[in-house]
Amino acid sequence: METTFTVKFWGVRGSYPVPGPATARVGGNTACVEITVGTYTIIIDAGTGIINLGKALAKRGVPVDAVLLFGHMHHDHTQGFPFFSPAFNPTTRLHVFGPQIVGHNLEDVLRSTMRPPTFPITLDTLNADISIRELAQGEVILIGEDGVRVRGFTDVPLKDESEKVKIYSMRSYAHPGDSLFYRIEWQGCSVVYASDTEGYVGGDRRLVNFARDADLLIHDAQYSEDHYLGEAVGLPVTQGYGHSTPQIACEVARLAGVRQLALFHHEPGYNDEQVEKMAADARQHFPNTTAAYEGLEIDLTQPAQPTHSTPPYVPAPRPRDGKSRWIGA
Ligand SMILES: [Zn+2]
Ligand SMILES: [Zn+2]
Repeated sequence: METTFTVKFWGVRGSYPVPGPATARVGGNTACVEITVGTYTIIIDAGTGIINLGKALAKRGVPVDAVLLFGHMHHDHTQGFPFFSPAFNPTTRLHVFGPQIVGHNLEDVLRSTMRPPTFPITLDTLNADISIRELAQGEVILIGEDGVRVRGFTDVPLKDESEKVKIYSMRSYAHPGDSLFYRIEWQGCSVVYASDTEGYVGGDRRLVNFARDADLLIHDAQYSEDHYLGEAVGLPVTQGYGHSTPQIACEVARLAGVRQLALFHHEPGYNDEQVEKMAADARQHFPNTTAAYEGLEIDLTQPAQPTHSTPPYVPAPRPRDGKSRWIGA
């Protein structure tokens, strides 16, 4: 099996898409991240960024067989799904997972995002083979040659599953509605996705444990510190909206000892210069920080340097003993 473990950003914006020259470098599409692990494709969130990912997957010329993980079901994480072209192809297989939502069924919620009279077609119009499953607390998704399976956290002899890609989830209480963080592990490499979250005093310690020693932490950093605190002229206080500042993201990164941090879910009202300045300021708190931008690709198996217009990005060396010190591994 190929030893590929890459993370590519297709949509990095929060709340709503913002195309145009002011966001041309960072990108204006909403949340979507593609993770390639060996020969497997994992997609996190289906904001408008998934539309261009769909076109790219179609060009690769092989049937799409992917795991699609929803962090939560707000518009900016689902609005690209009805335009994800592989979903219309009968050769496509999509394993969709997302959070258990109090009072709702995940499939019903996804159906509600695309149906008349507010959308011309329904989920049933899609030709792809699509399975939709809620993840309970502690369940682990395993991806291997025998397909995609879900097993309980405590009864899984994970040591015997060392060849498999493992996707752990953690329920978050730091954003309106029900949402999940994800941790993807394979061959001693790991990435943690923690979008749409707001920190706590002293750092979100559950997330710190979940992200322990990860090679890459993708963390919400929607608001600048002054905007968050209501000190930016003409902007409301956003504390309590369920989003973080770069400083909050850096605190989690530092406490968790991650190798690198990608700021994510950028405020749609910020232009490229504002996002890049926030990343530059964040490097005062956690040096190995970059602002995620559309097209950024990070190879977790290499000490690669993503290119960016902001100052040089220097990933810390990672221990190469192949052992994860994360408690859940
Ligand atoms: Zn969002
Ligand atoms: Zn949200």
